[in-house]
Amino acid sequence: MAEVLILGAGMVGTATALALQARGHDVVLADRRAPGRETSYGNAGVIQGEAAEPYGLPTRPLELLSLALGAKNAVRVTPAGVADQFGALMRYLRNSLPARHRAISAVYSQLTGRAIAAHEPLVEAAGAGDLMRPHGFRQAYADPARLEADSRNAERLARDYGRGLRLLDGAELARAEPGLRVSYAGAIQWEDCWACSDPGGLVTAYAGLFAQRGGEVVEADAQSLSADGSGWRVAGPDGPITAERVVLALGPWTPTLLARFGYLVPMVGKRGYHLHFRGAPTLNLPLMDMTVSSVMSPMRAGLRVATGAELVPMTAPINRRQITRAEARARQMFDLGEAVEATPWVGTRPCLPGMLPLLGELPRTPGLWVHFGHGHQGFTLGPVTAELLAAAMAGETSPLIAALSPARAMR
Ligand SMILES: Cc1cc2nc3c(=O)[nH]c(=O)nc-3n(C[C@H](O)[C@H](O)[C@H](O)COP(=O)(O)OP(=O)(O)OC[C@H]3O[C@@H](n4cnc5c(N)ncnc54)[C@H](O)[C@@H]3O)c2cc1C
Repeated sequence: MAEVLILGAGMVGTATALALQARGHDVVLADRRAPGRETSYGNAGVIQGEAAEPYGLPTRPLELLSLALGAKNAVRVTPAGVADQFGALMRYLRNSLPARHRAISAVYSQLTGRAIAAHEPLVEAAGAGDLMRPHGFRQAYADPARLEADSRNAERLARDYGRGLRLLDGAELARAEPGLRVSYAGAIQWEDCWACSDPGGLVTAYAGLFAQRGGEVVEADAQSLSADGSGWRVAGPDGPITAERVVLALGPWTPTLLARFGYLVPMVGKRGYHLHFRGAPTLNLPLMDMTVSSVMSPMRAGLRVATGAELVPMTAPINRRQITRAEARARQMFDLGEAVEATPWVGTRPCLPGMLPLLGELPRTPGLWVHFGHGHQGFTLGPVTAELLAAAMAGETSPLIAALSPARAMR
């Protein structure tokens, strides 16, 4: 029997395996697929040290109306999506009001502020340095008024949370990114970010490091989880896998499994799409084009064009509206060529109404731990919250561990 079984080998589960192993635990990491093949594969690949405040919902009626009408490409909502997630969305909206959002950001900024320091030793030990480009992520603006307004806000964030910032005018951006065919009014350049050219590859490298250090990576379906005496078991390929404790790190699939154990967790699933293009050379650093709210990331597989949020049930059919708008804009920006994929990749950001991930042992089920809900920044935060989970499992307490405790959010 292992000490800890981790279910889910995305960035969050894999980082958890490494953090527990580093504290001397005997750990098994299980997934129904190879590590890093789901949400942690399809993201924009930015380790977002700059993300001091989580994305709230707009709280002014006119902004909400414009969101509902799909005026901007950042968010797409459907009546079925709103109905499906109504309770969670209302709580998310309440937490987006200024005072509550400030309190949440006071916690969130501490997590993202540790991200680079948490990834750096893992990247080095896993020999994954060739996947990483340190220092930078840009938001580029065609509209000078919006650039001006967002630059003032960026200066506030940089000042309040101590984040590195450079403001570029259009000519400076053109010099930094000579591949761009369109001109911009300017850009906000965040310095405390790393860009990854293969997010799934980074998780694979972290899982390889875990195995190299003696950990076991196995294939198993979390749906087979059941209590086993004082421990837990899942069905593995060669028979049952048993452990004293289990950690659910199933990203957006976590609430479904928790329901089986009597926990109802409202989640706001924000779906996103991407396509790759292998045309002419494009960018040196990831760039969010603010006209279509899409991140264009230079990846090994080509330029990855990734979309904002679509508030629909996880099983809703693919809707190409956001990715089509993003692709059209990317075609103005670069000589793209054909898309690599015939169908866009789609995945769901696991966002909780409290805008903070949850980690810890469940209040009514000894030995059953959770680690999920990293929303827009799980690729960034995995190793940060993994270290907190490992500390919590060792019986340590801290204000951060308390702020992320599932006991606060789940009964
Ligand atoms: C378009 C897009 C862009 C994004 N860009 C960024 C970014 O630039 N930076 C950033 O920090 N974050 C970004 N994110 C968010 C980030 O990708 C997620 O927060 C993060 O990947 C969540 O990691 P996870 O390990 O919790 O989930 P996942 O990576 O989804 O891992 C969950 C794992 O559970 C496994 N699983 C599910 N069900 C079962 C089962 N029954 N049995 C066994 N295993 C199971 C899955 O196979 C999967 O491997 C983006 C997300 C999207 C959609």
